Parts: sequence; structure tokens; C-alpha cells
Amino acid sequence: MRYHWRTQRFATSARDFVSATDILVGIGWLDAQAFEHWRRGQIDCLEELVRANLQRISEAMRLFRSWATARGLFASPTAYVGRTPRRQTLRFSRSGNPAIEASYRTHWVSPELSEKKRERLAEKASHAPELVAVQPLNADWICHRRGGTGDLLMMETPGPACLRCVGLDDLAYLPAGDALFTRRAKAKSTRYAVVVRFSRIRRRYERQGLLVEPQALADAR
Ligand SMILES: [Zn+2]
Repeated sequence: MRYHWRTQRFATSARDFVSATDILVGIGWLDAQAFEHWRRGQIDCLEELVRANLQRISEAMRLFRSWATARGLFASPTAYVGRTPRRQTLRFSRSGNPAIEASYRTHWVSPELSEKKRERLAEKASHAPELVAVQPLNADWICHRRGGTGDLLMMETPGPACLRCVGLDDLAYLPAGDALFTRRAKAKSTRYAVVVRFSRIRRRYERQGLLVEPQALADAR
């Protein structure tokens, strides 16, 4: 198996860790785009996407682990959470076996990093990706789930969905402007989403504000 390529790449990589999914993508067993779908919670388990049988996968995982330990990399358990309002823990293996799940979610971190940097890296890697709500430029959009519409939408694979269907319609809108207040409200809100709008001039999405729980907004005041 081709594992030596990683040694080279890891040494020069801008990233300070390597994960099992990096290896699977790197050796061509896992399609990077399919992997993104899994990260968005659209696939039951990652192994469904891996183009190798379970025996070969577990052999690759075993080699990866011994490669990492032989190089003195630090094992860092990392949470993988879906980029959906449910924030569900993502599943890797068909079996759901805790030991196998644990080996998939272990990131191997460079020993050259200080302890503090390792901690910060682990915190960042475990952080769930932010939910994003879009202010549509076209007011005529239709929710793909139940045909509604609204001021905000969330992009799902089949199309845009309204906040009611994704279960975030109880959140209150807080326009950007007061950075400190926004930070306080966000910290107090269990669920939140970033609100963006596409700028035709700058050709990119720009942050407009935040959706937070009304109670969090009240507490922040
Ligand atoms: Zn809807």
C-alpha cells in the first residue's frame, strides 16, 4: 500500500495533523465530494462511500495507526458533527463499533506543536461547522420540502429549504454591527445560524447578521 507519500506530504503540509479520512481520500478510496456530503449528514455512514471492502479498510486503518505511532504523533480524539440543525454525531463504520468509530475520529497531531497549540487545534477540529442562512436575492424562491417561502433560506442538496422546515423559524434576527453584543448573544444561544447575502458587486457571500434564540438575545441585553 502507498503510505510513504503521506510522510512526505505531512512533513511539508500547512496542516499540523492527519486523519484517517485524509488517508482514504489520499489513496483514492474516498471521493472528496462524497466525503463533503457525509459531513453534511446526508449519508448514513462513511464506509458506504469507501471503494474497498471492510477487510482492506481495516488493514489500511491498522497501517495508518502504526505509521502514526511510529512517528510519535499525538492521538487527538475529534468530534465529527453534521452540518445540520440537528447537529448529529456522524457515523463512520457500518458496524458502529465504538473502537472502530474511535479510530476513525482520531486525528494524529505533529509532535512539533506546543501543548497549547495542540489543544487549540483539537478544539477547532471538534467545532461543528456553522449553519448558514441565506437572504435570497430573488424573492420568488420556493422551499423544496413543502413549497413555502420566506425571507431566509438554507441550502440543502435538493434545493433551498425554509427555516420552518429545518426547524429554525423560532430564532430571532440580530443584524451585524455590535461585535461584542453579537458575541455575547451567540455564546448564550444553543442554536444559531450565520445570515449571509450574496453581493453581486463583490461576487461573494457577505455576513449580514446572526439568528439566535430569542432568550439568548434577551439575556445578552
Ligand atoms: Zn419549507
